Amino acid sequence: MIYMDNAATTRPYSEVMKTFMNVNEAYYFNTASIHQSGRKASQLLEASRKQIVELLGVPDYRCIFTSGATEANNLVIQSVLGRKRTYGRTVLVSELEHPSVLGVLEAMKNDGFRIKYIRTLPDGTVDIEHVRRLLDDDVIFITVMAVNNITGSIQPIAEITELLKGYPKAHFHTDATQAIGKIDMDYTGVDSLSFSSHKFHGLKGTGALVAKEPRTLSPILHGGGHENNIRSGTVNLPGAVAMARALRIATEQRDAAAGRIAGFNHKVRMALRDMRAIHLQPSGVPHILNVSFIGAKGEVVVNALGNRGIMVSTTSACASKLKKLNETLLAMDNERAVIEGSIRISFSGLTKEEEVDELITALRAVHEEIGEVLK
Ligand code: PLP
Repeated sequence: MIYMDNAATTRPYSEVMKTFMNVNEAYYFNTASIHQSGRKASQLLEASRKQIVELLGVPDYRCIFTSGATEANNLVIQSVLGRKRTYGRTVLVSELEHPSVLGVLEAMKNDGFRIKYIRTLPDGTVDIEHVRRLLDDDVIFITVMAVNNITGSIQPIAEITELLKGYPKAHFHTDATQAIGKIDMDYTGVDSLSFSSHKFHGLKGTGALVAKEPRTLSPILHGGGHENNIRSGTVNLPGAVAMARALRIATEQRDAAAGRIAGFNHKVRMALRDMRAIHLQPSGVPHILNVSFIGAKGEVVVNALGNRGIMVSTTSACASKLKKLNETLLAMDNERAVIEGSIRISFSGLTKEEEVDELITALRAVHEEIGEVLK
């Protein structure tokens, strides 16, 4: 099996699995227990928290452990909007966001918030001029992801930070799930960021919200008051320590891996470029390559590659079961046939050159096999 669906999830590093097992054995205590063993567990948790914010380049921010990016996005949106509603009701959101951002905002429309969507340019980045026009004193929250999960487009986070300097009331959140461990990004201008460990070779079910002013957050999960009363529920210490380990390895290997992966991306693009009825989306991070077989259905291409042992996805793993036209590709003004025929190939630092060569051979074979439906 050749795994090329790393934007959906990655294979955990073996060191991370070892860390997880070791912590489960040696530190299975509750971090909230006041006995000596509980206190040791709590110290380990705090060390991981510190390591994570340092690796992200925001040592003064607070890391709040969650079950993943979905929960972190829900937590920040619900709590900040709830607290700031007396100062304004406008929220700016890019059309490109993951459903864990768009869905919660859609639900909050009924609570009197005005949700304004930031337009997308054809290259898959948000239109910064549109952000400028949408900004006013009523804006309390703005959310733009760091890297898009469908095309890999890198969003202008630094430019948005600059624009927001005149609007201190607006909380700026970025969903950094597809950026962490892939590109070096400056997060010092954002108020909060969210991510999931399993996207950078950590384990599923662990993630975090990292916030500049944790006091502006309130819990959406109530209970025993863990995580400074922001996120109740016994903390997944082994998962948190494993996440810190995964982040360290991914960060150390990031630049060298990105160089190799850019080579893979280029090789596949070059091979596809010469084929008939192919549309390549503009590139962003090298880890993600989105290509359409015009006239075919993405699912058919995914299954045909699957029959050859190669795992890729249509648009994104979460949305592929919903059978909707992909919103990112729609926002970029792609034609219906391009959207319907799209697949996402995603590499990781563990991808090997021979696997990329096999992928190219399989893409050629599938292109020939479905040739008569291609336009
Ligand atoms: N945000 C982005 C950009 C994602 O790609 C994903 C997962 O695909 C998520 C959020 C949600 O992550 P999780 O399912 O781990 O909560």
